Amino acid sequence: MHCPFCAANETKVVDSRLVAEGQQVRRRRECIHCHERFTTYETAELLMPRVIKADGSRQPFDEDKLRAGIHRALEKRPVSMEEFEASINRIKHCLRAAGERELPSRQVGEEVMSELRKLDEVAYVRFASVYRSFQDINEFKEEIDRLSADHDEGTGEQ
Ligand SMILES: [Zn+2]
Repeated sequence: MHCPFCAANETKVVDSRLVAEGQQVRRRRECIHCHERFTTYETAELLMPRVIKADGSRQPFDEDKLRAGIHRALEKRPVSMEEFEASINRIKHCLRAAGERELPSRQVGEEVMSELRKLDEVAYVRFASVYRSFQDINEFKEEIDRLSADHDEGTGEQ
């Protein structure tokens, strides 16, 4: 690929390793001309199922939207980019593994929540509060009560 600094055609790979549990290849490249270094990530492109919205309309799976939603939930939380990427990959893997060409948006939301729950409880509550407010407010309240009972000191947001 072209060098992002000087747009030269030739760059060489100086380091290459698997990241995100082997779902990505991270490459350090060096420009042969200006010697600047930069990083690229390579991921296999696989077809994602389409998403069926609550009103019955179908939309293409939107990874940017998924990333933005999870990123917002993780704001200022002690979660590395590596863990974030691994989570995104696990969510996509689960959705593809369902083997359907179309999936209800609810199923996507549930998958995100189960992933966030393992990753960071505060992020989970943040995401769930936005997501579930349109679904079942009582179920959400029970979840908050359960979390604050389990982790009296851990759930305080500063
Ligand atoms: Zn260059």
